[in-house]
Amino acid sequence: MPALSRRLKGELRNLDTEYVQCRTRRHRMVDVPFTGHPGAKWQPSKSVTVLAQRCERCSVIREEIWNSYTGAIITVQYKYPKGYKLDRDIKPVDIRKEFLDRQLNVANAILLKL
Ligand SMILES: [Zn+2]
Repeated sequence: MPALSRRLKGELRNLDTEYVQCRTRRHRMVDVPFTGHPGAKWQPSKSVTVLAQRCERCSVIREEIWNSYTGAIITVQYKYPKGYKLDRDIKPVDIRKEFLDRQLNVANAILLKL
């Protein structure tokens, strides 16, 4: 596995903790009403059902677009909060390593206080 460049390491190090948690431990989704947004490709209609969810931790919005007649999922789209997206060269394993490093830092901080 090639090591991350200093720039990508820095990008990962600066990622909000909530984003690191969601990217490694999954989102905490709750159902929310679909509010629509300008330029949305899909809107609720007789034949289209839009089901929206929002992550309680990072605020990402997930919208499932269903065919109202068949129940088939037409597509799923996400709206990410500012700063959530990472360079594509940063892989999931890199984010898990960052998660572990932060866990270790918290554990060390607790030990130093004892
Ligand atoms: Zn999340």
